[in-house]
Amino acid sequence: MTSLKHVDVHVEGIVQGVGFRPFVYCLANRLGLAGRVRNDVNGVFIEVEGALSGVEEFLTALERDAPTLSEIERVTVVSGEPAGHDGFTIAASDPSGLRRALVSADSATCDDCLRELADPADRRHRYPFINCTNCGPRFTIVRGVPYDRPLTTMAGFAMCAACAAEYHDPGDRRYHAQPTCCPACGPRLRLHDARGAELCGDPITGCVTLLRAGGVVAVKGLGGFHLAVPAAHEQAAATLRGRKHRADKPFAVMAADLAQARRLCAIDTAAAELLTSRARPIVLLPRLPDAPVAPSVAPGNRSLGIMLPYTPLHHLLLAELAEPLVLTSGNVSDEPIAHEDADALARLGGIAEAFLLHDRAIHVRADDSVVRPAAGQVSVLRRARGYAPEPLALRSPARRPVLACGAELKSTFCLLRGRRAFISQHIGDLENYETLRSFVEGIDHYCGLFDIRPEIVAHDLHPDYLSTKHAREIGGADLVGVQHHHAHIASCLADNGEAGPVIGVAFDGLGYGADGTLWGGEFLRADLTSYERLGHLAPVPMPGGSAAIRQPWRMAAAYLRDEHPGLDVARRNAPHWADVLALAADGINSPMTSSAGRLFDAVSALLGVRDKITYEGQAAIELEQHADPAETGSYPAAVRDGDVLTLDGSDLVHAAAADLAAGVGTPVIAGRFHNGVTDAIVRTCRTLRERTGLTGVALSGGVFQNELLLERTAAQLREAGFRVLRHVRVPPNDGGISLGQAAVAAARDLM
Ligand SMILES: [Zn+2]
Ligand SMILES: [Zn+2]
Repeated sequence: MTSLKHVDVHVEGIVQGVGFRPFVYCLANRLGLAGRVRNDVNGVFIEVEGALSGVEEFLTALERDAPTLSEIERVTVVSGEPAGHDGFTIAASDPSGLRRALVSADSATCDDCLRELADPADRRHRYPFINCTNCGPRFTIVRGVPYDRPLTTMAGFAMCAACAAEYHDPGDRRYHAQPTCCPACGPRLRLHDARGAELCGDPITGCVTLLRAGGVVAVKGLGGFHLAVPAAHEQAAATLRGRKHRADKPFAVMAADLAQARRLCAIDTAAAELLTSRARPIVLLPRLPDAPVAPSVAPGNRSLGIMLPYTPLHHLLLAELAEPLVLTSGNVSDEPIAHEDADALARLGGIAEAFLLHDRAIHVRADDSVVRPAAGQVSVLRRARGYAPEPLALRSPARRPVLACGAELKSTFCLLRGRRAFISQHIGDLENYETLRSFVEGIDHYCGLFDIRPEIVAHDLHPDYLSTKHAREIGGADLVGVQHHHAHIASCLADNGEAGPVIGVAFDGLGYGADGTLWGGEFLRADLTSYERLGHLAPVPMPGGSAAIRQPWRMAAAYLRDEHPGLDVARRNAPHWADVLALAADGINSPMTSSAGRLFDAVSALLGVRDKITYEGQAAIELEQHADPAETGSYPAAVRDGDVLTLDGSDLVHAAAADLAAGVGTPVIAGRFHNGVTDAIVRTCRTLRERTGLTGVALSGGVFQNELLLERTAAQLREAGFRVLRHVRVPPNDGGISLGQAAVAAARDLM
């Protein structure tokens, strides 16, 4: 007689809403085991009993064969007394107690659903909301946990008999697929004019007709509205730019499939994997010289942001249009993207001729994520749809729950409990009321979803950031201020599961320094609890303060002073050049900064690449685009000794000015400047290694979004024997600051 074995199994991780219970049900039935499975607040709880060999096989297969969208973090097995279960059942969810289960990110339409979408015999043929347990909306439609239909924006759609039968059949692909629906019972697509009146006819066909005629259409997607025009249509793209008040910032393009994408960009295996991954991010790729893309889509850029369809609606639209489509965020200038119908009609009515709408509400807005393949890895530049809210695991657990409020530009927040860091999706620049509201509501929603009551609130040192002000308004928690560049390096450490100490190179636009001046070209000795400033770029005045950020030519003036008469940059800006030189010389309204971003700005303006900017980082981004990657020459920059090393950025600017006067071309000068910055970083790190004995270097800050600078600096540091840490899962820009703040606050709490 074989003995009966009984075990209780807790599975934690992303195991709800991903087909885990039917998977367990089928597995247990196949192995002839009895018991039951249900969702609980921690994930999935299973009681299973039967022959010892069967139970052992069950436990092996549980992790080995888990469903595609699941992420198992931990399995706990406890033996118990057989309960005499009669067969195996799926029990109702237990919503009581703490809510610790994880919500998965939204996922691109799966191949099975795509087959049905294209099959005239299928009852969901051409249905724009087809989904199943392996794909479809998740985070953006979830109102609360546990993840069940009543707590999603599908609550209002009662399932028809056919959908209900699939939903309740454990052998069906749609068993407990919460957003499942069909043309008989689910959301409906409609095309409206700009005043909100519904247009008759097939909405997809109507939309495509408008697009072909050069019209702008607002399309309700997964995490918000997009504005669409055909990518090859110059007049439409230019019109969209004008109406959106977006002068130069590149638009993203959606291609129907990989074959169509290959006509736009060079796509290798790594890029193809990113494009077809279930997160379906925008992937920045080298643009082909003859790509059929209008000039206004991505002016001044050698790369193009490409994505593939990730909802059935996108698949239908792109198939019918049969050419690539610009899909840019549905907003005016810097506001958050619209995600509600009425708001979209109100805010985008002056931009779009028509609205492709539907009645499945978007509960949480999520922009498209942006990534770039990088030397066998990936660089995430904007982390949003498809990635959030899935947590990152930290190296050591926090003692108390932490909320980190981030910085100001490219804002995110981060909630930390135990080892899990929940970084919010990209929220935007916290400079207006709408974005601030999105930030505050987002914090509330995450706190509810993951049942976190922060006992520590971390913030930037900048007193005027809205994120800092919000942190100070939250009562009942300990406040922890974290210096901006320390947060950058801590973010890079946390991203790599390390604790330091390292030599941290934090190069960015601006951050509030511990001495009240503006930092941004920093060499730190940093671990998660503390940092020491060991070196920095030599400070220069920012003539006119924030005006110098919008007008990079002012930085050229600050660096060049009056030492290079007859330069074009002075001639182009002649009416104000002398005044700005005087401002810088007298220090009036000219705060000193060690910013690396401003150094790039100065050279960009010097070379006539960009005197004034229309989006953050534009001058530096375009300078990189101009640089000849084959250029091997370099400019020397002095690294001055002292307790704190000072790296003289003005040497680089003067060398560039001398080359310019000698008639050297822009691509060569830009290349030599990039190489000069790289050399100076490596030399500084060598000196700091001698002083500190540290051999690890962490590279962070928005300036390291510059691919040329990042790849060269990382390679040369490795050649010099350093171990290099770079960002992988969170952005090097200020979008990663909240993770760094959270890691620092948690580490200090353990001291
Ligand atoms: Zn599917
Ligand atoms: Zn139905």
